Amino acid sequence: MASIDSLRTLLVEQLKDIYDAEKRLTKAIPKLIKKSTSDELKTALQHHLDETEEQVGRLEQAFEQLDMAAKARTCAGMKGLIEEGDEHAGDDYDDDGLRDAAIIGAAQRVEHYEIAAYGTAIAHARLLELDDVVSLLTETIDEEKAADKKLTAIAESVVNLDAATEDEVRMAGRRSRGAPAMAMMGRGVSARSSAHDRGGRSSRRSRR
Ligand code: FE
Ligand code: ZN
Ligand code: FE
Repeated sequence: MASIDSLRTLLVEQLKDIYDAEKRLTKAIPKLIKKSTSDELKTALQHHLDETEEQVGRLEQAFEQLDMAAKARTCAGMKGLIEEGDEHAGDDYDDDGLRDAAIIGAAQRVEHYEIAAYGTAIAHARLLELDDVVSLLTETIDEEKAADKKLTAIAESVVNLDAATEDEVRMAGRRSRGAPAMAMMGRGVSARSSAHDRGGRSSRRSRR
């Protein structure tokens, strides 16, 4: 248990937590890359892995600014998010696109958690007028926000539509006289293989 006697000590404790979180991510992201199918997703995760390694370095610089040795303190939140992501990525999916969608969901939870953590640390560093720490952490939070946006774009343009089944497209058409289904088909879903093409499991899916 840490004893917190000042905002500065609180900031240091937060940085220890984030340092642990980032170091965990350098080991967790490669596993998600291996389980991803979409090239766009793999590339985005690889890019963010490279950034994450730089983020670890930036935190070490921030500790230096505070005249502290870089030290990690277990981030239970990130540990849990990573465990959950691994578990979901390991589930059995009918379609690789669905696994990619789950991986994107797990990665976005991580980004949002990081954005929250860095946001608080930046606010505290700003109150303490630690300008160099503020700019180091701001560089990182901007990368986290960009990673989150990129994942949203990938989910919208590739994964979710790939994961849609023909049944779902057809049912959407029946419910609303064709318009959304036609719109979706226009974006290429029906041309892709679905669980329906591969046979047999459509009845479970059509009850929704
Ligand atoms: Fe990060
Ligand atoms: Zn934490
Ligand atoms: Fe991140």
